[in-house]
Amino acid sequence: MLWQGRRQSSNVEDRRGIGAGGLAVGGGVIGVIAIIINLLMGGDPSQIPEMLPQQQSQPMSPEQQAADEERAQFVKVVLAETEDVWNNIFQKQGSSYQEPTLVLFRDIVQSGCGNASSASGPFYCPADQKLYIDLSFYEELQSRFNAPGDFAMAYVVAHEVGHHIQYLLGTAEKMARERQQLRETEYNKLSVKLELQADYYAGVWAHFANRAKILEAGDIEEALNAANAIGDDRLQKQSQGTVVPDAFTHGTSEQRMFWFKKGFDTGDLSQGNTFDDPSLN
Ligand SMILES: [Zn+2]
Repeated sequence: MLWQGRRQSSNVEDRRGIGAGGLAVGGGVIGVIAIIINLLMGGDPSQIPEMLPQQQSQPMSPEQQAADEERAQFVKVVLAETEDVWNNIFQKQGSSYQEPTLVLFRDIVQSGCGNASSASGPFYCPADQKLYIDLSFYEELQSRFNAPGDFAMAYVVAHEVGHHIQYLLGTAEKMARERQQLRETEYNKLSVKLELQADYYAGVWAHFANRAKILEAGDIEEALNAANAIGDDRLQKQSQGTVVPDAFTHGTSEQRMFWFKKGFDTGDLSQGNTFDDPSLN
């Protein structure tokens, strides 16, 4: 993606180097006090191990820091590009787009949806309308999922923005209501549709990014490869007790590629109704 020198979003909270609850990573006495306060406030004791920065990564070398900073700049540009595209689409429909905030974190983070660790993968929290990303996922895409390339990461960001679109359009809320009346298997089916629609919206964004001439040869293949690699439950390795809004079934690799591609080909918001698609019932 031709991203260098383009606008970076200012809707970013950089919490790298800060642990859950605003503690400096390392915890110490302040960490213990915070846990006690959390318990006094009615916190769940079973969640305490999750609050401690157990998965703290090694200090970064100057080279790693530089690479990390470049990745931060990259995702800020991708977020800015999604803002431009979705502002435009919403405006054309006579409404206005409320831009989400991106939280960059390392190892663990406290979100409006509970505590989460990097192991959860990137996620969107509808309660605070923020996207949470640990930049180490960029590397994980390459090493663990064999999905290299900057546009693979752009697709991941655009997918999380897709969940924000669903929040704005009321799709997520509708689904949460239906959840109470459904058996788990039925709910999982709905969940797949929600995920595939987020892929579709990522594709719609890529359609307009392509029109803006910021895509390079091979970018769409990188996104499709990532959609293929992170199909099904491959992102779910989070431990019990953490709240991970995006931890449902995501659809098969083939389905994920199909819906991203459809969004990319059409660029049409209205053709992304995965909920009424007979092939998904
Ligand atoms: Zn998702």
